[in-house]
Amino acid sequence: MQFIIYLLLTALLGPSSVNGYLSGRHETDGSHIETQLELLGARSQSTPPTGKIALTNVRVFDGWTIGEPSTVVIDGDSITFDPRGVHNTIDGEGGVLPGLIDSHIHLSTLASLKSLSSYGITTVMSMGCTNYTLCAALRNQVGLTTFFTAGEGAVARNSTHATVFGATGFVNSPSEAPEFVANVFGNGSEYMKLIAEPNGFNQATHDALVSATHALGKVAMTHAQDYGSYEVAIRSRTNGIQHVPFDIPLTEEMAQRIKQQAQYVTPTLNIGKIVTANATLVSILSGGMNLTYQAGVAGVQQLMHAGVPLLAGTDANDAAGSFLVGDTIGITLHRELQYLTEAGMSEVEALRAATVVPSIWHNLIGRWSIREGYRADLLLLKPGSDPLRNISQTLDIARVWNGGIEYVPAA
Ligand SMILES: [Zn+2]
Repeated sequence: MQFIIYLLLTALLGPSSVNGYLSGRHETDGSHIETQLELLGARSQSTPPTGKIALTNVRVFDGWTIGEPSTVVIDGDSITFDPRGVHNTIDGEGGVLPGLIDSHIHLSTLASLKSLSSYGITTVMSMGCTNYTLCAALRNQVGLTTFFTAGEGAVARNSTHATVFGATGFVNSPSEAPEFVANVFGNGSEYMKLIAEPNGFNQATHDALVSATHALGKVAMTHAQDYGSYEVAIRSRTNGIQHVPFDIPLTEEMAQRIKQQAQYVTPTLNIGKIVTANATLVSILSGGMNLTYQAGVAGVQQLMHAGVPLLAGTDANDAAGSFLVGDTIGITLHRELQYLTEAGMSEVEALRAATVVPSIWHNLIGRWSIREGYRADLLLLKPGSDPLRNISQTLDIARVWNGGIEYVPAA
């Protein structure tokens, strides 16, 4: 049981004995937050881009195919195809320009934004915020990965999230839902996050949180990592279900209901793979439950078969200790794409799961398509790379731009 909770584990949680056991560092630790606010404050003084840069001889992923070599122009922070007034030209040497989005992540440091940028991940969807001042600072970093985030996650008092992981976003009854949700959005959060777990919210409270979110015209993301909690999430008509069950695979019938209700899923095979492969973690966290990576894969296959939109997300967490520390944040999304193809997705479907599909379902207007006026978030792959033939070639990273500013890792 604790294992399941741990997967979601995520930063929606406050100080946690398990986190502490594994890492000795707490995301909500005051000195950690102060240090990061200082670093982020100093960094945010960067100048916005000016002038026009032409990237010649690049092949563009248009959402379905990779085109013939062409020219893409960066104009300030945007894309154009108008070459007039270009002051600098870069030969893309036949490389490919797709863009990558991680739709489920937890981060609390400037270093993580840099690591993500170095791996060509230029937008992330954070699934929990433990400090709204820190989240605002992470959101405003010109030239680095764009950070969108949920607010503080809603949890049931006395749930495993509360008692084991120290989460404090309590909602005690359906009547408390509107005020909690209003606070999440009043603090600038892009979406709502709530936790379905075996000893968590009853259906009525879960439903009330989703309804209060929808009443504000916003979307809700529900963590669910076991079969029973998946049922709660489906019935609540939450928008995005996070993870897949790792105890009992979800059924064909459940997948069809998810599809009919226009819900979508971010499976996060990455975290399932990492934890189920770590005997020490499993022995600490499983509580004797039979949890397998194969169950998660079987669930993904049911969802694919039903035509449910699937988004690539990793649950990578820079506060989670030794198995998911800073420098792995970023490479994790490339691994998720490999896991999705191993589960049966085609290469183009996997690439869409990290570009077009999240842009649609997370309503990322003006991102992740290379079109006139869109944001110049670009990942240039090395010459000869073809991720539509071999998805692991998304790691052939040559250059990266966030909002028209090239990210150059420190030497
Ligand atoms: Zn998470």
